[in-house]
Amino acid sequence: MLAARSPLVRNPVNHTKSEQLFQRAQQLIPGGVNSPVRAFRSVGGNPPFIARGEGSHIYDVDGNEYIDYVGSWGPLLLGHRHPSILAGLDKALAIGTSFGAPTEQEVELAAAICDAMPSVEMVRLVNSGTEATMAAIRVARGFTGRDLIVKFEGCYHGHVDSLLVKAGSGVATLGIADTQGVPAAFCDTTIALPYNSIDAVDQAFRAHGSRIAAIIVEPVVGNMGCVPPRAGYLEGLRGITARAGALLIFDEVMTGFRVAFGGAQQRFAIRPDLTTLGKVIGGGLPVGAYGGRRDIMSRVAPAGPIYQAGTLSGNPLAVAAGLAMLRFLKTHPEIYVHLEARAAELCQAAPAGVTVNRVGSMFTFFFTDRPVIDYESAKLSDTARFGRYFRAMLDRGIYLPPSQFEAAFLSAAHSDEDIRKTVAAAREAFRA
Ligand SMILES: *Cc1c(COP(=O)(O)O)cnc(C)c1O
Repeated sequence: MLAARSPLVRNPVNHTKSEQLFQRAQQLIPGGVNSPVRAFRSVGGNPPFIARGEGSHIYDVDGNEYIDYVGSWGPLLLGHRHPSILAGLDKALAIGTSFGAPTEQEVELAAAICDAMPSVEMVRLVNSGTEATMAAIRVARGFTGRDLIVKFEGCYHGHVDSLLVKAGSGVATLGIADTQGVPAAFCDTTIALPYNSIDAVDQAFRAHGSRIAAIIVEPVVGNMGCVPPRAGYLEGLRGITARAGALLIFDEVMTGFRVAFGGAQQRFAIRPDLTTLGKVIGGGLPVGAYGGRRDIMSRVAPAGPIYQAGTLSGNPLAVAAGLAMLRFLKTHPEIYVHLEARAAELCQAAPAGVTVNRVGSMFTFFFTDRPVIDYESAKLSDTARFGRYFRAMLDRGIYLPPSQFEAAFLSAAHSDEDIRKTVAAAREAFRA
């Protein structure tokens, strides 16, 4: 009823073409999607099929327009079709799409990453965040000669076998405890602990310290919804790993170049041993990277004995987009100031009884009145209420991540008007 009267609702909202495409997709692609959370299973309804994007807006195949707070799940820090990134891609297209041989641009992208993150002294490019974390834990194991990896419940590090233990987002949303298809022996190499508890880490290291190769952590969690580290938590992880001879891996696939130019490690002034990157560093094309201390990265093949490779790694198109992104961000530091201010304004839309977590331009409205500090507290959220809110926002032309356990992202393309419209829509949607 409310929806029909609202000036913010297009009436009627038509999804005919998207529905037809989704029926066809489900015959050809498992669940109709190429990554599970896109299927809207946790919020109900079917996903709109996207026809195009421009700046902060996307348009579906039925002609509906949305203000986009997914941003391809993080990469689009500058919005859709940013002119600098398009120009970089144009130049790359004129030269060739892939050589499988070294190119100058790869060296430039490596330099741009190392320049932004002083802890990264050498870096290897891969094609996704998953590849980056998979390689980083292999390197940690090879370097330390140890097998165990500590991860945290609700943190997601891609679909790496041994890291799909108590993983967040997609897995939590679908209610799959773990996943089928991972040998128990792989899970036995993973210790999953609650996030934000130094006591839990202390205990694990007292019991197994000499066998632990690394801690891998999202320094700001995005994959159980946005959950910031408590004061002193990251320092605690740094101290414990250093004392035990284990490595500290910051999975900055989401936070890198997002929460600050130099990532969470700059924002919280912590120097990890290894860092994994993805999302923003590809400027919307598939890129991942892992890097860190020179003595560790020098052990990667062909410089050293730890094998890792990729036919399309350092792909010229992906590298061109990533390089254009990092160069633009480097020369426009004010972007981070604007993102911070606009995201703060947007988050004021949340009414009492909703817990807002935000770090820079990533944020989540949790439908619970309790603080959300780890996976247990995130799960207290009323996901049915989130689903109603999500659908009411979609009807009002606001495209949010279709899960309570995902962070929303603001881009530099979002205007003050976008924020005003979104706040107005949210005020209505919260009553839905
Ligand atoms: C998205 C994400 C990954 C996985 O990256 P893909 O490119 O999807 O494989 C890993 N770690 C974190 C923290 C992420 O947010």
